[in-house]
Amino acid sequence: MPSRKILVINCGSATIKFALVDEHEESFALRGIADRLGEPDAVLHWQHAGERHEQPIPGADHGAALARLLPLVQEASPGGVQAIGHRVVHGGERFTRARRIDAEVLAAIRAVAPMAPLHNPANLLGIEAAMAVYPELPQVAVFDTAFHQTLPEHAFRYALPDALYREHGVRRYGFHGTSHHYVSQRAAELAGLPVEDSCWLSAHLGNGCSTCAIVNGRSRDTSMGLTPLEGVVMGTRSGDVDPNLHSHLARTLGWPLEQTERMLNHESGLLGLSGLSNDMRTLQQAHDQGHPGAILAIEVFCYRLAKSLAALSCALPRLDGLIFTGGIGENSPLIRSKTLAHLRLFDLALDEAANARCVNGVGGAIHAPGHPRVLVVPTNEERQIALETLEVLDACAIRADVR
Ligand code: AMP
Repeated sequence: MPSRKILVINCGSATIKFALVDEHEESFALRGIADRLGEPDAVLHWQHAGERHEQPIPGADHGAALARLLPLVQEASPGGVQAIGHRVVHGGERFTRARRIDAEVLAAIRAVAPMAPLHNPANLLGIEAAMAVYPELPQVAVFDTAFHQTLPEHAFRYALPDALYREHGVRRYGFHGTSHHYVSQRAAELAGLPVEDSCWLSAHLGNGCSTCAIVNGRSRDTSMGLTPLEGVVMGTRSGDVDPNLHSHLARTLGWPLEQTERMLNHESGLLGLSGLSNDMRTLQQAHDQGHPGAILAIEVFCYRLAKSLAALSCALPRLDGLIFTGGIGENSPLIRSKTLAHLRLFDLALDEAANARCVNGVGGAIHAPGHPRVLVVPTNEERQIALETLEVLDACAIRADVR
């Protein structure tokens, strides 16, 4: 049987990232991004057969951009694709796994949109446009929150009045589930351990950052909460702050809610601390040149990350290894080494040569001999979304056969 292919789509409010994933191949035949959608300078960038291409698509919206994708997908996969897998950020408590999209699923994604106002409406835009452009293809939603639906109640509840949870769904959901799921499975493979008998701490460090404790293939706790703001320091997001901050700023500075929300989500984190950039590459260069803001931002980032990992160790019966992933986790020996320096009580120590080697997509073990395992595992969220999409197709086919 020829291998199956899935078109994976990740929609933002003005972007569509896409990848054509073959079930048997790690690399993608086609990948790219439609950027600045709705603007006069909207543009489609893609890579196919090792070559980069660019095409202006002035004023194109999500539907028009997806229509432009059709011939590219046909060229890259003349045999067609089996389905479209959509990344959906928030699935609330409703979705514990990927689901084939129908009217009911669409309504449920819409219903949880107030909890992810920046993400779910954009994801919906992409799904609806894709259903219009590719009406014959099955469409599957893969949720960032679904992997964390195995958190025990003592980990997902806030110490708030019960009614807020029961009536309004105020609880910790967690995000980046697709990535934590993928890298914990890869880590078990690399370590030669069965997934169902392995215990991991995982640090996904990209523009957004989160940590996760994974026991026997299931998420047991994670640093993000009701929204992706809770937890560790990120590119422009603060992570944990005192929950009274909103009212403090309202009282002392007269800041409306929206201003504090914007500050916490878009002007804080590495950017806010350094006063320079949210990009770790820029900060590392400035750090090496003695820039005080960059030095402080990196110190706070690593200390708080280590603190979060130490806290999540409470969810593990034992530790089989610590995983670094995401743009920073996969590429920054400095951040890995500074973070581990705060975790001496766990006996973690690095092999500096191995740490330096694991950059630019090279993964592997970086711990010093005789110390607990530390792994760099390049994430592949597109592949995980494609694999989960195929699982849904297979399950639907079995149900159809049984009927
Ligand atoms: P992601 O969201 O996973 O694409 O990760 C983006 C983050 O990874 C940004 O902060 C980048 O600065 C960071 N990053 C990418 N390459 C490197 C690198 N070589 N060294 C340090 N940070 C990097």
